[in-house]
Amino acid sequence: EHLIDQIKAGEVIERPASLVKELLENSLDANSTNIKISIIENGLELISIEDNGDGILFEDLPYAFCRHATSKIERFEDIYNLYSFGFRGEALASMAAISRITCSSTPIDNPEQGGKIVIHGAKEMSHTPLASRKQGTSIFIKDLFFNTPARLKFIKSKTSEKNAIKRVINAFILTNPKVQFSVKWDDKDKNIFKPVEDTRLADRIREIILPKNSPNKELYEFEGEYEGHSVRGFASAHTSKGNAGKSQYLFVNGRLFTDRQIHQSILRTMEKVWPFGETGHYCVMLNVPPTQVDVNVHPNKTQVKFFKANIVFSLVSASIKKFIEENFK
Ligand code: ADP
Ligand code: MG
Repeated sequence: EHLIDQIKAGEVIERPASLVKELLENSLDANSTNIKISIIENGLELISIEDNGDGILFEDLPYAFCRHATSKIERFEDIYNLYSFGFRGEALASMAAISRITCSSTPIDNPEQGGKIVIHGAKEMSHTPLASRKQGTSIFIKDLFFNTPARLKFIKSKTSEKNAIKRVINAFILTNPKVQFSVKWDDKDKNIFKPVEDTRLADRIREIILPKNSPNKELYEFEGEYEGHSVRGFASAHTSKGNAGKSQYLFVNGRLFTDRQIHQSILRTMEKVWPFGETGHYCVMLNVPPTQVDVNVHPNKTQVKFFKANIVFSLVSASIKKFIEENFK
């Protein structure tokens, strides 16, 4: 039975970065406004997330780590509803099967009914009541993949996994401006992202997408709207030679995705401002009616399918062109 758990876990938790994504979605689902993240050894030694969200009752804790204990998809239409995050109640159970987890939680409504649970490789080691004044949930995940061959693979691929985790975290920081994030790497490099108002969104985006030593902190902002589709984009005036792929973010309805055609359209249109065809950093946020996009191509993949791809594509390039005409001609 544990073996089946491990195999299934491998499908949901492909890599440390996908685990980080699931945990952050849970914290945001629980209405957290302050999330502290700590990653050690690219997640293999420790992934910890502390939030100040709604919390979990002592008696509910074991169920949170049970397969199929919860399910958000109750109606067929939910599949098309972008705003519902989550993995049909399998994420925590999958993590619990392949790591050593300690989870402490204090519910917002019943602070005296908090609890702590310890699970090693799907086996519950302890489950005890917890009296804490610290509202929210803390999850510590140690020794990820300790009981699977996958661990070796991630020990070898160090830098690429760090970049993948960074990208996941950055995506949440970019799309949740009102939430404070603190991100710590290997117990030393700590960055705090204070909440920002919508009107100051560019400040947070600048912090994320521009390199720290960037000589030009200016961001070009463009927007547009067409038939229920809208776009808001930020692109750096900073130029950097070569592929700056790590600071290029595309979102649809708050979800990170990749699309080669849209990506190239952004770069090509921006080239008119950026001389010499150099590539730039950008964050482009699309909003489309949930019925006009299929995001469930694969839960761990970042492709999406637009039903009116032409509208999306033209909207993005037209908005950039309009911005350029208004500002550079
Ligand atoms: P899903 O999110 O699809 O329900 P998960 O396995 O990710 O499945 O989480 C299981 C359940 O545990 C959630 O439905 C939620 O009730 C609870 N939970 C998980 N993380 C948190 C958190 N950070 N704060 C409050 N509740 C949480
Ligand atoms: Mg979830």
